[in-house]
Amino acid sequence: MMIPAAEEQLKFITHIQRILDEGSFVATYKFALIMSLADYAVENGDDSGAALQLTTRDIAESFVEYYWRQAVPYAHGNLQAPVRVLKQGTGQQPVVLSRIMDLHNLFNGSLSAARKDAKIWGVLLNKVAATIAQMPLWKLQVVGRSIVPFMYEQHGRGNTINLHPGVVYNFRRFYDLIRNLVQGAWIRHVRILNVDLLGESDLAEFLFGAERTVLPGLRAVLRDVQADDCFYCKGKLREGGDIDHFVPWSRYPLDLGHNFVLAHAVCNRSKRDFLAAPCHLENWQKRNQLHGKELAREFDARSILHNQEATEKIAFWAYSQAETAGSNLWFRKDDVLPIDHSWRQALLHEYVNFQC
Ligand SMILES: [Zn+2]
Repeated sequence: MMIPAAEEQLKFITHIQRILDEGSFVATYKFALIMSLADYAVENGDDSGAALQLTTRDIAESFVEYYWRQAVPYAHGNLQAPVRVLKQGTGQQPVVLSRIMDLHNLFNGSLSAARKDAKIWGVLLNKVAATIAQMPLWKLQVVGRSIVPFMYEQHGRGNTINLHPGVVYNFRRFYDLIRNLVQGAWIRHVRILNVDLLGESDLAEFLFGAERTVLPGLRAVLRDVQADDCFYCKGKLREGGDIDHFVPWSRYPLDLGHNFVLAHAVCNRSKRDFLAAPCHLENWQKRNQLHGKELAREFDARSILHNQEATEKIAFWAYSQAETAGSNLWFRKDDVLPIDHSWRQALLHEYVNFQC
């Protein structure tokens, strides 16, 4: 087994924390880089403890996503203060952010529209990948004055890294914790760079919030495929229903099409941040198996991002995490169940036909 021992896991987290506290940060790239590595580990890795090779291009897309929502003028809080895009570096805006600000204007803020322009999007990703290789990649693992290459060999050149055995495992195991650590550090850093602008404000919400992405047309697609029934209790939807993240946003910010279902507001509120019980998971898998392609076509027509395979992988990861933690699963209003192994069967398409 290559799974890191408890002591190694603790060391990993401690190193991340020390990088955040003690590393020198000219721009916020290092924060985006750590999160992009963590995202890649969740989306493309597994829990075997194995090493993983990746390129800067592999994580450029995630890197862009972090800055995309931050590339608009900040206009909260102090009304007397000027309105501008928050500074993310000590001098000029970091080049990645400037590029993204240009594209923001070009595509009226729509990330999915930008992605659809294959040429412009490809140029952006290449540029971002080159910047990652040039700037944060070979400077990330510095604690105090020493290089501590605990994630990958920091040999200083090229655009490919090999995450050491155990690193992917740790990123997956501690994704929530790492996200909280990085976001906290990122917020503190941006606050310092923008003291003139920021009083007591909802900076955290501005930088990382937005659980409810507005996805025009999504409701209609889901209503069709669910025949106007609530996904969970199967009662009729009268008032349109709430769009629910099947894998809750709080566990992983997954806004890909196949993760959405439509539910009564009361069912949705009751489910909150829980993962759903095996019977719901089975229904979700069956829906995506039966209607996945049709949904994908409808999502495409409405510029809704989707990737069914990645969505399933993230669901698998989320349920594994819950099992390790011994979490409860949401069954129905005011009713939760302790997690057991049966979620695995649903995700492996071995249906038991659980009753909800
Ligand atoms: Zn319901």
